[in-house]
Amino acid sequence: MINLILFGPPGSGKGTQAAKLVQQYDLLHISTGDLFRYEMGNNTPLGQRAKSYMEKGELVPDEVTIGMLRNKVEANPDVEGYIFDGFPRTIPQAGALDNLMKELFTEISGLIMLDVDDDEIVNRILERGKSSGRPDDNDETIVRKRIEIYRSETTPVFDFYAAQGKAHKVNGIGSIEAIFDRLCKVIEETMD
Ligand code: ADP
Repeated sequence: MINLILFGPPGSGKGTQAAKLVQQYDLLHISTGDLFRYEMGNNTPLGQRAKSYMEKGELVPDEVTIGMLRNKVEANPDVEGYIFDGFPRTIPQAGALDNLMKELFTEISGLIMLDVDDDEIVNRILERGKSSGRPDDNDETIVRKRIEIYRSETTPVFDFYAAQGKAHKVNGIGSIEAIFDRLCKVIEETMD
């Protein structure tokens, strides 16, 4: 089983690369951002709760996010592995994910960070905002807020997995294919 965390700042290309990795390695892609947007689209209680945080570029509270992630994983037990995209974003989320993997008699194989600098990220997200229909992609103040929260709350997750010898970094600048090759190389050298 390969259980991969695709990590990196907002707009670093996690969703794009996850879609390609899923085909290559036959994994289930779980994006907490997509799950929240789906709930919001259906105006469920969970979606209504998440909306107020997402609109401001803040993190949805851990207990809400962890519960949703757990449901998704438990509903899909018979898979070759998972790609987690946008999760874990805090240390409590990382602890909860490790526990969940243990319950399933498996573990996180590794975390790969897509390394992209702030100016590039802001440009990419504002560009994406023109067509994505995501309100949080259209406002530079909200985009910068998301990056700030990534630096303060989410980067410690990298160190959490580095302490387990499981954290890797690849250059997230270049063509989609070039970045994909870099990711596959790390997966094959360290996890496969
Ligand atoms: P991006 O990576 O571009 O920021 P996502 O789709 O991953 O986009 O996330 C969009 C928003 O959804 C986040 O700004 C946050 O409000 C919420 N969200 C997604 N994943 C999490 C998470 N693991 N914990 C808390 N909030 C989350």
